[in-house]
Amino acid sequence: MTSRYAASRAEVAALLDGWGEPAYRVTQVWDSLYRQLQPIEDASTLARPLRAQIADALPPSLELVTRATARDAMTTKWLWACTRDDAQIETVLMRYPTRATVCVSSQAGCAMGCTFCATGQAGFERHLDAGEIVEQVARAAHESPQRVRNVVFMGMGEPLANYDPVWSAIERLHHDVGISARRITVSTVGVVPGILRLARERLPVTLAVSLHAAIDEDRRVLVPLDDRYPIAAVLDAAAEFAGARGRRVTFEYACIEGVNDSPDQAEALGRLLGPFPGPGGAHVNLIPLNPTAGFGGAASATPRLRAFADRLRAHGITATVRRNRGTDIAAACGQLRSRDAIPREGPPSARMGP
Ligand code: SAH
Ligand code: SF4
Repeated sequence: MTSRYAASRAEVAALLDGWGEPAYRVTQVWDSLYRQLQPIEDASTLARPLRAQIADALPPSLELVTRATARDAMTTKWLWACTRDDAQIETVLMRYPTRATVCVSSQAGCAMGCTFCATGQAGFERHLDAGEIVEQVARAAHESPQRVRNVVFMGMGEPLANYDPVWSAIERLHHDVGISARRITVSTVGVVPGILRLARERLPVTLAVSLHAAIDEDRRVLVPLDDRYPIAAVLDAAAEFAGARGRRVTFEYACIEGVNDSPDQAEALGRLLGPFPGPGGAHVNLIPLNPTAGFGGAASATPRLRAFADRLRAHGITATVRRNRGTDIAAACGQLRSRDAIPREGPPSARMGP
């Protein structure tokens, strides 16, 4: 059976037609699923029995295992079991006063094996299909009082190692949900052929590249894929993307004390990315390392992070230090991991909105 967010509009039309429903119902169903992004059970334009019939015929692909809300009440993480095989994945919602961002998983697990990442430590299970990706956005949006304006592929998995389903999900989010492609960020550890494909797509998504070091010798210790796609090849592909899309590329850099955060390393990164082409050049997002069970390193101290950012700025690079959200529920970058027990929901007062 096709799952709710995997079904095409034609499949929904055929289903409704088979029940003798008028053609305009298709638009009502489609709008409630995507444009209004509401649970089908709440679609007030449809009679209750029809809602139940649709819910039955197009079942969800994700079943809730646990939900945890951070102390700030603005970050929520869901652990889902995929209904088709029980693979477990996680989704994070980050709310801001007037908008929200959903961080989605593109795979159950990840085969890339980055040493400092909890998903990488746990290994690969399988690719997600487009419906499972879109459903993560929908289910998170159902519980967000703020409109979801941004989607980031920064959950579990390497999106460019699962290209076609990820791209179908992006098209659905852009065309049907109405989230502008520019507000959809694909984060990659440096899968060069995937970056080049993205550069040729019609929709101008935003690209983030996880760099973590300025020289291959340092990078390959953290990112095994560096052996296959070294920094120079990744930067060439990213430059092609920047040229084709006319978009600034973001580089992510997890700052690990004594590993990749020295003044010399900042200088090397500045020299590497200073000449990066495209409007606005390179943008660097410094992420203080989040703790994971399988990696002993610690986050760089704040003064060190500031000094690192200042050195990059001296090279004309815009650099920001990312504020980590949701570390108390292991929802921050690199902490997502299936099969982990995650804390149960906090007291009602700590819970988010309606
Ligand atoms: N596979 C993709 C997207 C998912 S990871 C990628 O690697 O880009 C999302 C981001 O979290 C990446 O920038 C990744 O490097 C970062 N990350 C992973 N583990 C982390 C950790 N322990 N602390 C901080 N950032 C981490
Ligand atoms: Fe995979 Fe990204 Fe984690 Fe590396 S950092 S193991 S690519 S999810």
